[in-house]
Amino acid sequence: MPATREPAALNLPPRVPLARLPTPIEPSPRVGAALGLDLLYKRDDLTGLELSGNKARKLEYLLAEAEAAGADTLVTCGGVQSNHCRATAFAAAKRGLRAVLLLRVPDPARPPAPEANVLLDRLAGAEIRWVSHDEYRRRAELMDAVASELRAAGRRAYVIPEGGSSPLGSLGYLLAVAELRRQLPEAWRTGPLTLAYAVGSGGTGAGLELGVRALGWKDARPVGFAVCNDAAYFRATIAALCADARRRWPALPEVPADELRIDDGFIGPGYAQATSDGLEIIRRAAREDGVLLDPVYTGKAMLGLATRAREPGGLPAPRVVFFHTGGAFGLFPFANALAG
Ligand SMILES: *Cc1c(COP(=O)(O)O)cnc(C)c1O
Repeated sequence: MPATREPAALNLPPRVPLARLPTPIEPSPRVGAALGLDLLYKRDDLTGLELSGNKARKLEYLLAEAEAAGADTLVTCGGVQSNHCRATAFAAAKRGLRAVLLLRVPDPARPPAPEANVLLDRLAGAEIRWVSHDEYRRRAELMDAVASELRAAGRRAYVIPEGGSSPLGSLGYLLAVAELRRQLPEAWRTGPLTLAYAVGSGGTGAGLELGVRALGWKDARPVGFAVCNDAAYFRATIAALCADARRRWPALPEVPADELRIDDGFIGPGYAQATSDGLEIIRRAAREDGVLLDPVYTGKAMLGLATRAREPGGLPAPRVVFFHTGGAFGLFPFANALAG
Protein backbone atom coordinates (compact mmCIF):
# COMPACT_ATOMS: atom_id res chain seq x y z
CA MET A 1 0.00 0.00 0.00
CA PRO A 2 1.43 3.45 -0.87
CA ALA A 3 2.42 5.68 2.02
CA THR A 4 -0.23 8.19 3.03
CA ARG A 5 0.14 11.41 4.90
CA GLU A 6 -2.39 12.93 7.25
CA PRO A 7 -3.26 16.55 6.48
CA ALA A 8 -1.68 17.58 9.80
CA ALA A 9 1.58 17.88 7.86
CA LEU A 10 0.04 20.44 5.50
CA ASN A 11 -0.18 23.35 7.95
CA LEU A 12 -3.76 24.17 7.13
CA PRO A 13 -5.42 27.31 8.53
CA PRO A 14 -7.92 27.28 11.44
CA ARG A 15 -11.64 26.61 11.02
CA VAL A 16 -14.71 27.13 13.15
CA PRO A 17 -16.91 24.10 13.92
CA LEU A 18 -20.09 24.40 11.84
CA ALA A 19 -20.53 20.97 10.22
CA ARG A 20 -21.52 17.78 12.03
CA LEU A 21 -18.49 15.65 11.33
CA PRO A 22 -17.66 12.98 10.46
CA THR A 23 -20.66 12.47 8.20
CA PRO A 24 -21.69 8.82 7.94
CA ILE A 25 -20.97 6.50 5.05
CA GLU A 26 -23.68 4.03 4.18
CA PRO A 27 -24.13 1.42 1.47
CA SER A 28 -26.66 1.83 -1.31
CA PRO A 29 -28.65 -1.35 -0.77
CA ARG A 30 -30.46 -1.51 -4.12
CA VAL A 31 -29.66 1.34 -6.54
CA GLY A 32 -25.95 0.42 -6.59
CA ALA A 33 -26.55 -3.32 -6.98
CA ALA A 34 -28.97 -2.76 -9.86
CA LEU A 35 -26.21 -0.83 -11.64
CA GLY A 36 -23.59 -3.51 -10.98
CA LEU A 37 -21.74 -1.14 -8.65
CA ASP A 38 -20.39 -1.53 -5.17
CA LEU A 39 -21.81 1.83 -4.05
CA LEU A 40 -21.43 3.81 -0.82
CA TYR A 41 -23.02 7.16 -0.06
CA LYS A 42 -20.85 9.68 1.77
CA ARG A 43 -23.67 11.48 3.55
CA ASP A 44 -22.51 15.08 3.39
CA ASP A 45 -26.17 15.98 3.12
CA LEU A 46 -26.06 15.32 6.87
CA THR A 47 -23.51 17.99 7.80
CA GLY A 48 -26.48 19.69 9.47
CA LEU A 49 -30.02 20.85 8.83
CA GLU A 50 -29.74 24.60 8.38
CA LEU A 51 -26.13 24.16 7.29
CA SER A 52 -26.75 20.98 5.35
CA GLY A 53 -24.66 19.88 2.43
CA ASN A 54 -21.17 20.54 1.15
CA LYS A 55 -21.20 24.29 1.86
CA ALA A 56 -20.93 23.63 5.61
CA ARG A 57 -17.40 22.23 5.21
CA LYS A 58 -16.28 25.23 3.15
CA LEU A 59 -17.85 27.71 5.55
CA GLU A 60 -15.84 26.31 8.48
CA TYR A 61 -12.70 27.76 6.89
CA LEU A 62 -14.33 30.87 5.44
CA LEU A 63 -15.92 31.91 8.73
CA ALA A 64 -12.63 31.46 10.57
CA GLU A 65 -10.95 33.88 8.17
CA ALA A 66 -13.89 36.31 8.28
CA GLU A 67 -13.85 36.41 12.06
CA ALA A 68 -10.08 36.74 12.26
CA ALA A 69 -10.40 39.77 9.96
CA GLY A 70 -12.98 41.30 12.30
CA ALA A 71 -15.86 41.06 9.82
CA ASP A 72 -19.40 41.67 11.02
CA THR A 73 -21.18 40.91 7.73
CA LEU A 74 -20.84 38.12 5.16
CA VAL A 75 -21.55 39.04 1.54
CA THR A 76 -22.11 36.30 -1.01
CA CYS A 77 -24.11 35.43 -4.14
CA GLY A 78 -25.84 32.62 -5.98
CA GLY A 79 -28.88 31.47 -7.93
CA VAL A 80 -32.26 32.24 -6.39
CA GLN A 81 -32.42 28.83 -4.67
CA SER A 82 -28.72 28.76 -3.77
CA ASN A 83 -27.90 26.21 -1.05
CA HIS A 84 -24.66 28.08 -0.48
CA CYS A 85 -26.47 31.37 0.24
CA ARG A 86 -28.86 29.66 2.66
CA ALA A 87 -25.96 27.94 4.45
CA THR A 88 -24.11 31.27 4.64
CA ALA A 89 -27.20 32.98 6.08
CA PHE A 90 -27.35 30.38 8.86
CA ALA A 91 -23.60 30.36 9.44
CA ALA A 92 -23.87 34.13 9.96
CA ALA A 93 -26.81 33.71 12.35
CA LYS A 94 -24.97 31.03 14.35
CA ARG A 95 -21.89 33.20 14.73
CA GLY A 96 -23.67 36.49 15.46
CA LEU A 97 -22.86 38.04 12.08
CA ARG A 98 -25.07 39.53 9.40
CA ALA A 99 -25.43 38.33 5.82
CA VAL A 100 -26.15 40.09 2.54
CA LEU A 101 -27.12 37.74 -0.30
CA LEU A 102 -27.12 38.66 -4.00
CA LEU A 103 -29.64 36.30 -5.55
CA ARG A 104 -30.00 35.90 -9.32
CA VAL A 105 -33.56 36.14 -10.70
CA PRO A 106 -35.07 36.75 -14.15
CA ASP A 107 -36.60 40.09 -13.08
CA PRO A 108 -35.42 41.88 -9.90
CA ALA A 109 -38.53 44.09 -10.01
CA ARG A 110 -40.65 40.96 -9.49
CA PRO A 111 -39.00 38.94 -6.70
CA PRO A 112 -39.99 35.27 -6.38
CA ALA A 113 -42.24 33.83 -3.70
CA PRO A 114 -40.50 33.05 -0.40
CA GLU A 115 -40.30 29.31 -0.94
CA ALA A 116 -37.69 26.70 -0.04
CA ASN A 117 -34.21 28.25 0.37
CA VAL A 118 -35.51 31.81 -0.08
CA LEU A 119 -37.85 31.29 2.86
CA LEU A 120 -34.93 29.98 4.94
CA ASP A 121 -32.70 32.93 3.92
CA ARG A 122 -35.40 35.24 5.22
CA LEU A 123 -35.93 33.31 8.44
CA ALA A 124 -32.19 33.53 9.13
CA GLY A 125 -32.46 37.30 8.82
CA ALA A 126 -30.31 37.67 5.72
CA GLU A 127 -30.66 40.81 3.63
CA ILE A 128 -31.55 39.79 0.08
CA ARG A 129 -30.70 41.85 -2.99
CA TRP A 130 -32.20 40.61 -6.24
CA VAL A 131 -29.94 40.81 -9.27
CA SER A 132 -30.73 40.07 -12.91
CA HIS A 133 -28.95 37.41 -14.95
CA ASP A 134 -27.16 40.20 -16.77
CA GLU A 135 -25.96 41.93 -13.60
CA TYR A 136 -24.92 38.59 -12.13
CA ARG A 137 -22.15 38.29 -14.73
CA ARG A 138 -20.41 41.08 -12.81
CA ARG A 139 -21.03 39.42 -9.44
CA ALA A 140 -17.50 39.94 -8.10
CA GLU A 141 -17.76 43.70 -8.78
CA LEU A 142 -21.27 43.86 -7.34
CA MET A 143 -20.13 42.17 -4.13
CA ASP A 144 -17.17 44.52 -3.83
CA ALA A 145 -19.57 47.44 -4.23
CA VAL A 146 -21.75 46.07 -1.41
CA ALA A 147 -18.62 45.68 0.74
CA SER A 148 -17.67 49.35 0.10
CA GLU A 149 -21.19 50.47 0.86
CA LEU A 150 -21.08 48.58 4.18
CA ARG A 151 -17.66 50.01 4.99
CA ALA A 152 -19.00 53.54 4.43
CA ALA A 153 -21.72 52.70 6.96
CA GLY A 154 -19.11 51.67 9.53
CA ARG A 155 -19.44 47.93 8.99
CA ARG A 156 -16.89 45.37 7.97
CA ALA A 157 -17.72 42.94 5.18
CA TYR A 158 -16.16 39.62 4.24
CA VAL A 159 -16.91 38.63 0.65
CA ILE A 160 -17.39 34.93 -0.13
CA PRO A 161 -17.30 33.96 -3.82
CA GLU A 162 -20.12 32.01 -5.45
CA GLY A 163 -20.51 28.57 -3.92
CA GLY A 164 -17.88 29.32 -1.27
CA SER A 165 -15.44 28.16 -3.92
CA SER A 166 -12.30 30.02 -2.98
CA PRO A 167 -9.01 28.21 -2.41
CA LEU A 168 -9.70 28.50 1.32
CA GLY A 169 -13.23 27.09 1.10
CA SER A 170 -11.97 24.18 -0.98
CA LEU A 171 -9.85 22.97 1.89
CA GLY A 172 -13.04 21.67 3.48
CA TYR A 173 -13.04 18.92 0.88
CA LEU A 174 -9.39 18.12 1.33
CA LEU A 175 -10.30 17.25 4.92
CA ALA A 176 -13.35 15.33 3.72
CA VAL A 177 -11.07 12.99 1.75
CA ALA A 178 -9.00 12.30 4.86
CA GLU A 179 -12.20 11.75 6.84
CA LEU A 180 -13.54 9.33 4.23
CA ARG A 181 -10.32 7.34 4.12
CA ARG A 182 -10.29 6.93 7.89
CA GLN A 183 -13.83 5.59 7.97
CA LEU A 184 -13.78 3.28 4.92
CA PRO A 185 -13.53 -0.45 5.58
CA GLU A 186 -10.00 -1.79 5.09
CA ALA A 187 -10.92 -3.53 1.81
CA TRP A 188 -12.07 -0.22 0.30
CA ARG A 189 -8.81 1.58 1.05
CA THR A 190 -6.87 -0.49 -1.44
CA GLY A 191 -7.66 -0.92 -5.11
CA PRO A 192 -9.34 1.34 -7.64
CA LEU A 193 -12.12 3.54 -6.33
CA THR A 194 -14.37 6.10 -8.05
CA LEU A 195 -15.27 9.24 -6.08
CA ALA A 196 -18.40 10.61 -7.76
CA TYR A 197 -19.59 14.16 -7.06
CA ALA A 198 -21.58 17.04 -8.58
CA VAL A 199 -19.73 20.12 -9.85
CA GLY A 200 -21.41 23.52 -9.60
CA SER A 201 -18.68 26.05 -8.86
CA GLY A 202 -15.69 23.74 -8.49
CA GLY A 203 -14.69 24.11 -4.85
CA THR A 204 -15.72 20.60 -3.88
CA GLY A 205 -13.83 19.16 -6.85
CA ALA A 206 -10.73 21.21 -6.03
CA GLY A 207 -10.76 19.94 -2.45
CA LEU A 208 -11.23 16.32 -3.50
CA GLU A 209 -8.42 16.53 -6.06
CA LEU A 210 -6.09 18.17 -3.54
CA GLY A 211 -7.13 15.63 -0.93
CA VAL A 212 -6.44 12.42 -2.83
CA ARG A 213 -3.01 13.74 -3.86
CA ALA A 214 -2.14 15.12 -0.40
CA LEU A 215 -2.90 11.69 1.03
CA GLY A 216 -1.01 9.86 -1.70
CA TRP A 217 -4.24 7.95 -2.40
CA LYS A 218 -3.57 7.16 -6.06
CA ASP A 219 -6.29 4.55 -6.39
CA ALA A 220 -9.04 7.04 -5.60
CA ARG A 221 -10.19 8.81 -8.78
CA PRO A 222 -12.62 11.74 -8.49
CA VAL A 223 -15.19 12.06 -11.28
CA GLY A 224 -17.15 15.30 -11.30
CA PHE A 225 -20.55 15.51 -12.99
CA ALA A 226 -21.11 19.07 -14.19
CA VAL A 227 -24.48 20.72 -13.52
CA CYS A 228 -23.98 23.89 -15.56
CA ASN A 229 -20.82 24.70 -17.55
CA ASP A 230 -18.85 22.28 -19.72
CA ALA A 231 -15.93 20.03 -18.84
CA ALA A 232 -13.22 22.33 -20.26
CA TYR A 233 -14.54 25.21 -18.14
CA PHE A 234 -14.53 23.15 -14.96
CA ARG A 235 -11.12 21.58 -15.59
CA ALA A 236 -9.70 25.09 -15.87
CA THR A 237 -11.66 26.39 -12.86
CA ILE A 238 -10.70 23.50 -10.59
CA ALA A 239 -7.05 23.54 -11.65
CA ALA A 240 -6.92 27.31 -11.02
CA LEU A 241 -8.45 26.91 -7.55
CA CYS A 242 -5.88 24.21 -6.74
CA ALA A 243 -2.99 26.32 -8.07
CA ASP A 244 -4.13 29.33 -6.02
CA ALA A 245 -4.42 27.14 -2.94
CA ARG A 246 -0.91 25.83 -3.51
CA ARG A 247 0.49 29.35 -3.79
CA ARG A 248 -1.03 30.11 -0.41
CA TRP A 249 -0.17 26.77 1.26
CA PRO A 250 2.94 25.50 -0.51
CA ALA A 251 2.80 22.06 1.10
CA LEU A 252 -0.26 21.28 -1.04
CA PRO A 253 0.21 19.04 -4.09
CA GLU A 254 0.11 20.07 -7.74
CA VAL A 255 -3.11 19.34 -9.62
CA PRO A 256 -2.68 19.41 -13.43
CA ALA A 257 -5.83 20.30 -15.36
CA ASP A 258 -5.37 17.40 -17.79
CA GLU A 259 -5.66 14.89 -14.94
CA LEU A 260 -9.14 16.08 -13.98
CA ARG A 261 -12.08 13.93 -14.95
CA ILE A 262 -15.22 16.00 -15.51
CA ASP A 263 -18.30 14.60 -17.23
CA ASP A 264 -20.61 17.21 -18.77
CA GLY A 265 -23.08 14.81 -20.34
CA PHE A 266 -25.86 15.26 -17.77
CA ILE A 267 -26.46 19.00 -17.48
CA GLY A 268 -29.79 18.76 -19.31
CA PRO A 269 -31.29 22.08 -20.46
CA GLY A 270 -29.20 24.09 -17.97
CA TYR A 271 -28.52 25.03 -14.36
CA ALA A 272 -31.42 24.19 -12.04
CA GLN A 273 -33.43 22.79 -14.93
CA ALA A 274 -34.38 19.18 -14.50
CA THR A 275 -34.87 16.44 -17.07
CA SER A 276 -37.38 13.62 -16.78
CA ASP A 277 -34.50 11.11 -16.42
CA GLY A 278 -33.06 13.23 -13.62
CA LEU A 279 -36.38 13.34 -11.79
CA GLU A 280 -36.83 9.59 -12.24
CA ILE A 281 -33.53 8.78 -10.58
CA ILE A 282 -34.50 10.99 -7.64
CA ARG A 283 -37.69 8.96 -7.24
CA ARG A 284 -35.69 5.73 -7.50
CA ALA A 285 -33.13 6.72 -4.88
CA ALA A 286 -35.96 7.74 -2.53
CA ARG A 287 -38.01 4.55 -3.09
CA GLU A 288 -35.21 2.00 -3.31
CA ASP A 289 -32.48 3.37 -1.03
CA GLY A 290 -34.49 5.74 1.16
CA VAL A 291 -32.16 8.60 0.22
CA LEU A 292 -33.20 12.11 -0.85
CA LEU A 293 -31.32 13.47 -3.84
CA ASP A 294 -32.03 16.89 -5.39
CA PRO A 295 -32.86 18.05 -8.94
CA VAL A 296 -30.11 20.69 -9.23
CA TYR A 297 -26.97 18.78 -8.22
CA THR A 298 -27.03 15.27 -6.77
CA GLY A 299 -29.80 14.01 -9.06
CA LYS A 300 -27.75 14.97 -12.12
CA ALA A 301 -24.62 13.40 -10.63
CA MET A 302 -26.48 10.18 -9.84
CA LEU A 303 -27.97 10.08 -13.33
CA GLY A 304 -24.44 10.47 -14.70
CA LEU A 305 -23.10 7.73 -12.46
CA ALA A 306 -25.96 5.37 -13.37
CA THR A 307 -25.51 5.99 -17.08
CA ARG A 308 -21.71 5.62 -17.08
CA ALA A 309 -21.97 2.49 -14.90
CA ARG A 310 -23.63 0.71 -17.81
CA GLU A 311 -20.92 1.68 -20.32
CA PRO A 312 -17.72 -0.38 -20.55
CA GLY A 313 -14.92 1.78 -19.13
CA GLY A 314 -17.48 4.46 -18.27
CA LEU A 315 -16.04 4.87 -14.76
CA PRO A 316 -12.52 4.55 -13.30
CA ALA A 317 -13.76 1.65 -11.11
CA PRO A 318 -17.04 -0.14 -10.27
CA ARG A 319 -16.39 0.47 -6.60
CA VAL A 320 -17.85 3.92 -5.97
CA VAL A 321 -18.22 6.45 -3.18
CA PHE A 322 -20.95 8.92 -4.12
CA PHE A 323 -20.49 12.24 -2.34
CA HIS A 324 -24.02 13.22 -1.42
CA THR A 325 -23.53 16.97 -1.25
CA GLY A 326 -27.05 17.86 -0.01
CA GLY A 327 -29.64 20.08 -1.66
CA ALA A 328 -32.85 18.62 -0.19
CA PHE A 329 -34.55 22.03 0.02
CA GLY A 330 -34.10 22.26 -3.75
CA LEU A 331 -36.75 19.56 -4.13
CA PHE A 332 -39.60 21.86 -3.14
CA PRO A 333 -39.58 24.19 -6.17
CA PHE A 334 -39.95 21.00 -8.28
CA ALA A 335 -42.89 19.61 -6.28
CA ASN A 336 -45.31 19.45 -9.19
CA ALA A 337 -42.86 17.84 -11.58
CA LEU A 338 -41.73 15.29 -8.98
CA ALA A 339 -45.10 14.28 -7.62
CA GLY A 340 -46.43 13.40 -11.09
C1 LIG B 1 -23.11 23.81 -4.28
C2 LIG B 1 -23.55 22.39 -4.40
C3 LIG B 1 -22.81 21.46 -5.16
C4 LIG B 1 -21.62 21.87 -6.01
O1 LIG B 1 -20.48 22.08 -5.27
P1 LIG B 1 -19.36 23.10 -5.84
O2 LIG B 1 -18.33 23.04 -4.81
O3 LIG B 1 -20.05 24.42 -5.95
O4 LIG B 1 -18.92 22.60 -7.15
C5 LIG B 1 -23.21 20.15 -5.18
N1 LIG B 1 -24.31 19.75 -4.51
C6 LIG B 1 -25.07 20.61 -3.80
C7 LIG B 1 -26.29 20.10 -3.15
C8 LIG B 1 -24.71 21.96 -3.71
O5 LIG B 1 -25.47 22.81 -3.01
